[in-house]
Amino acid sequence: MSTALQSFEPPRSGSHARLARRSAWLVTALMLCLFLGASSVVTQVASTLNHDEIQRNKHLARTAGEAWLTNITFTLLDFAFWDEAYEHTHGKVDTAWTTQQAGMGRSLLSQYGLNAVFIVDARQVTRYAFVAGEFDDRQAPDWIKGDLSALLAQARAKAGQRAAVTGYFLVDGRPAVVAAAAIQPLSYTLTTPTSELAYLVFVDVLGPVSLQRMGSIYGLPNLRQGSAQSPVSLQLSDDPPVYLTWDIATPGATFLRMVLPLVLLTSLIFGGGVWLLLRRSIRAAEQIDRGREAMRLSEERFRDIAEGASDWIWETDATLRLTYLSSRFRTATGFDTSQWLGKPLHQCLNLSAGVFDTLASQPEGHRQVMPCAHTDAQGGQRLGSLHARAIRENGCVVGYRGTVSDVTEEAEAQARIAYLSGHDALTGLPNRGQAYRVLQARLADGTCTRAFAILFIDLSGFKQINDCLGHIAGDQVLVKVARRLGEALQTDDVLARLGGDEFLIITPRVAQECLSELCEGLLSDFTPPIVTAEHELRLGLCIGIAQAPVDSTDAEELLRLADIALYEAKGRGRHGWQLYNAEMKTRIHERRQLEQDLKHAIQHDEFTVVFQPRFDITGARILGAEALVRWQHPEKGLLSPAVFIPLAEETGLIVALSDIVMRRACALVATWPEPVFVSVNLSCIEFMRSDLVARIERTLAATGLPASRLEVEVTESVMIDNADGALALMVQLKKLGVKLSMDDFGTGYSSLSYLSCYPFDGIKIDRSFVMNLSDPKANNQAIVSAVVAMGKSLGMVVTAEGVETPEQLEVLATLGCDQAQGYLLGRPMPPDALATLLLAQHAVAAQTETSQ
Ligand code: C2E
Ligand code: CA
Ligand code: CA
Repeated sequence: MSTALQSFEPPRSGSHARLARRSAWLVTALMLCLFLGASSVVTQVASTLNHDEIQRNKHLARTAGEAWLTNITFTLLDFAFWDEAYEHTHGKVDTAWTTQQAGMGRSLLSQYGLNAVFIVDARQVTRYAFVAGEFDDRQAPDWIKGDLSALLAQARAKAGQRAAVTGYFLVDGRPAVVAAAAIQPLSYTLTTPTSELAYLVFVDVLGPVSLQRMGSIYGLPNLRQGSAQSPVSLQLSDDPPVYLTWDIATPGATFLRMVLPLVLLTSLIFGGGVWLLLRRSIRAAEQIDRGREAMRLSEERFRDIAEGASDWIWETDATLRLTYLSSRFRTATGFDTSQWLGKPLHQCLNLSAGVFDTLASQPEGHRQVMPCAHTDAQGGQRLGSLHARAIRENGCVVGYRGTVSDVTEEAEAQARIAYLSGHDALTGLPNRGQAYRVLQARLADGTCTRAFAILFIDLSGFKQINDCLGHIAGDQVLVKVARRLGEALQTDDVLARLGGDEFLIITPRVAQECLSELCEGLLSDFTPPIVTAEHELRLGLCIGIAQAPVDSTDAEELLRLADIALYEAKGRGRHGWQLYNAEMKTRIHERRQLEQDLKHAIQHDEFTVVFQPRFDITGARILGAEALVRWQHPEKGLLSPAVFIPLAEETGLIVALSDIVMRRACALVATWPEPVFVSVNLSCIEFMRSDLVARIERTLAATGLPASRLEVEVTESVMIDNADGALALMVQLKKLGVKLSMDDFGTGYSSLSYLSCYPFDGIKIDRSFVMNLSDPKANNQAIVSAVVAMGKSLGMVVTAEGVETPEQLEVLATLGCDQAQGYLLGRPMPPDALATLLLAQHAVAAQTETSQ
């Protein structure tokens, strides 16, 4: 193939067919010439045959004529050279003798076939005439047309000799032979001068019968009198013109008739054969052309592909020596093809010499694919993918051919992708997937012999940083955290980022004291603030730890257990660590069970709502009531909201639960005397959701309670978690006419400054301030009075919660609180009980009004 490729010259398309067609025309013309030539020769031969026949016939006719003349001459001489004849005709013709003795009458005519006998004297006067068996008194020239006197003159000239003269004449328009001789003695010498001799004239008219007879003797069929116009004729005399004609045989025509069809037939057969042959050769030539054209296109296609492909094509002999390299080789390797042609392929591609040995035993068409590598002209290492097939001739392997694709970039990209898919782009640490794979590898690597621990780390306060300072600051913090965590590690430890603010450390340090040392070290590392370009930020670190193989030998399970431990750690504060233990699992299990029960309870309405009245600060009058939920658990009995509200919040079930409480509370309060209001507690989770306003609106519409009689209590965490969103929701609720109060004021991180930013109608001072109101060390009175002052200045109603003693109520009244709520005044109670209280209060009020 190599030589074919390198020296390939594309033939002109259609050249064979054109040549064949041209040759066909030539052969056809040649055949036509041959045919014409043969025809012409045949015609020529025929014409010669005809001509020869005519000449022969003419000769025969002439011979016949001459024989006839000779015949008549001899007869005439017998009668003219006769002593008695001379004596009986000289001077005066003895007619009787002539006719009877001499026999020159009827018998002469019939015996010799003559037509007339004349005896003419020296003065050319006819003395005796016997014509057609009768005596005739006509002069000879009257009957014989032609120059008879000239003939007689010739006869006179020959008198004295034994000779006669003959000539052709016309008698009654028919040719006639006229013979004349002077009548003279035979046995003695003439005494009279020749000029006085009489002449004997014989006339033989060539009538049809005579001519037929003559013709049959000489082989001249149908011999007859002719004319100048006859196709074949013999002119016996010019004057008068005497012609003979006969039916001429035309051997040429016969020859033509016989040979021409043969020539034609032969030409047709030969021509047909040649035509078929030519047609086949033209077809064959066309096929060759088509084949060559297809080959040319195929070659062209191959060349285009070979030159355009990113792969390079190679071919070797059976000993792996390169016999062909496509031009792409140069681009791919930087080497000229001539530098490698003739050298072994396996050297070029760093393969073993027996690399294709197995190919020979494989079935034909089998392809071998394998990785290869080579050094390019600049010394760079390139990776390739080699495809090879054996070239076979008569079943024997005579070489190999194939391609090499450069996969260096692809391999690098794959390595990069593999790296990226296993690493976190921000911190460069292994990601969750990679951590999981490491865990699995560690677990598979001698489960029981090599123990290790995993530390599940969560950053406390990171969410606020992200929310308040933005993601860029958040990212910067994460990078610093990753670095700080990494600094605490030893070589065997693996640090990964699981996502968000969650990290994982895999460490072989499993001894209790080692783990304790590691965790404490990490916690103390995070005590100093993290400093970014603009901020100094304090982060807490919560760590949950699980150990393999003691806790589990399953990667997923280990992560889950560490997460449980982390949850416990978080539950105990924002900075601490916790080893996993089996009780946690039980707790988690219980929690999960409770979650199931909670779902069931929502579906089957196992909740009741109790109401705790809110009084004016004198404690004399109920102004409203706070709706507090209770769960009548089928096994555990009545459950406090403190048990299940956090779970409902975590699981998102709080929304459904809240709907139940709100709907029931509003429906009940709508039946109570005005203007008694109801306050419901809303979880901060609900404040995260934009459908809160719509939900409240729907509830009000469904229960018919005026919005002014509904108050919602929210804790400070609502503002901390979602400051802007919370404000927008509050504004919308205010528009609806619903009242807002801040619950558990003083327990969160918030300050009084919050109050001015949000549209609250009231503040509920937390029970913890009321509890130790009389304790001078706690300084609670000062705080309460500050809150009251602040609330008042903002036009808010200040309520004290958890009032248990009359003293507390008194102090709160003196401090300026507006309303009070607590066991002293009324415990949370079923709606009926509160309704009874309200009715009684209503009745008293009505009575007082009437008594006044
Ligand atoms: P909270 O909003 O501060 O409700 C007042 C809690 O203090 C009630 O406990 C109430 O029984 C109790 N309490 C009232 N007066 C006194 C007193 O003089 N002394 C003492 N020691 N306690 C008093 P409860 O009903 O167990 O509710 C606990 C918390 O559960 C509530 O605190 C509230 O935050 C939440 N909660 C109750 N019901 C719901 C609800 O329907 N939705 C939501 N989101 N949270 C609710
Ligand atoms: Ca409350
Ligand atoms: Ca409260």
